[in-house]
Amino acid sequence: MKKIGLLLVLILPFSRLYAQSIDDRLCWRYFEITEKLRADEPLDKAEWNDFLTNDAIQVYLKDQGVDSAYIESYRQAMEIVYMPKNENVLNERLKDQNRYWWTYIINEYKLHEDEMKHYLLGLQNDQESYFDTCYRYSYTMLPEAYHKKAPEYKVTMIPIHNDAHVRSGWMIFTLMAAYFSDFNKLGVLGGHEFHHVLRPRLVFEVDKEDQVIISLLQRILNEGSADLIDKRYEGENATKLLEFQRGYPESFIAEGAGILKNIDSLLSSADLDKSKLTINKLIDTWNTSGHIPGYYMADIIEKQGYKAELINHIEDPFYFVYLYNKAAEKEDDAYVLSAETMNLVRLLEDKYRKQAKIVALQ
Ligand SMILES: [Zn+2]
Repeated sequence: MKKIGLLLVLILPFSRLYAQSIDDRLCWRYFEITEKLRADEPLDKAEWNDFLTNDAIQVYLKDQGVDSAYIESYRQAMEIVYMPKNENVLNERLKDQNRYWWTYIINEYKLHEDEMKHYLLGLQNDQESYFDTCYRYSYTMLPEAYHKKAPEYKVTMIPIHNDAHVRSGWMIFTLMAAYFSDFNKLGVLGGHEFHHVLRPRLVFEVDKEDQVIISLLQRILNEGSADLIDKRYEGENATKLLEFQRGYPESFIAEGAGILKNIDSLLSSADLDKSKLTINKLIDTWNTSGHIPGYYMADIIEKQGYKAELINHIEDPFYFVYLYNKAAEKEDDAYVLSAETMNLVRLLEDKYRKQAKIVALQ
């Protein structure tokens, strides 16, 4: 008994050391910058560039594909927003939100700075229960065998822009996305992102000629299944979110049938030339990561009572299509995929099923 007690004492400090945590240091550095700006001190170019050299910001900006002109214009927008002497220019710009988008976003950071600080302190106080809440949401779309954790994933909060990114082993949340999402419904943003990490996947080697179609099917399942976790909380009635952050489910559903019809007509065409297909042609809209057709399909699957069946086959992009069409046939006004497209999906499944393996986080 004594030995076990000693072991526990030894292990506990280590497990605390390796517990999942949120790195928010950059946010506090940002607040130091804004404090100086609020005192009408200009933002030094070297200081701004140094701030941006942070790893998380670099990874994020690279994903966004920005250049040095963009970085300089963002610095200038910071001066417009935070320096009292620029108040008139700021007010002018805010009248045209679309033209001065980053000014608008930075201004929202300014308006909510106190709440954001409070939010970050709250998270730091109880990170464990925060992650538990996120995981609980992920599990709502996973079979029980995959209700695991991914403590090795680091989470970094960055104080620019408005979205979230997952890289291998690393989640980067922008403070604005995380703050508002958690204020609206605590944990669903992390729930969506951890679902991407924990979801088992059907993995197989794909011939070149099939790569675009298989990638399409994987994307649709990947975002469609994760979107069932958070999108329902982001409707037009989610008034705790900023205006541009709400209304996604309605717009995905409104656009989904048209996107699916386009995919269907390309895939069912008698003279289909697979080598000419691209993801952009198939998902011909502003977002090609799979959300729009994926959420549209997953929503109909759920409405027709097949959510549990979807969860049981959450790794399987072929099954997702079959389940969708079964649901769509029962739902008024849903887009039903053609027999030709369904046949194509079946042929692909026949071709790859035997060598496919289920891969998941250990
Ligand atoms: Zn996602």
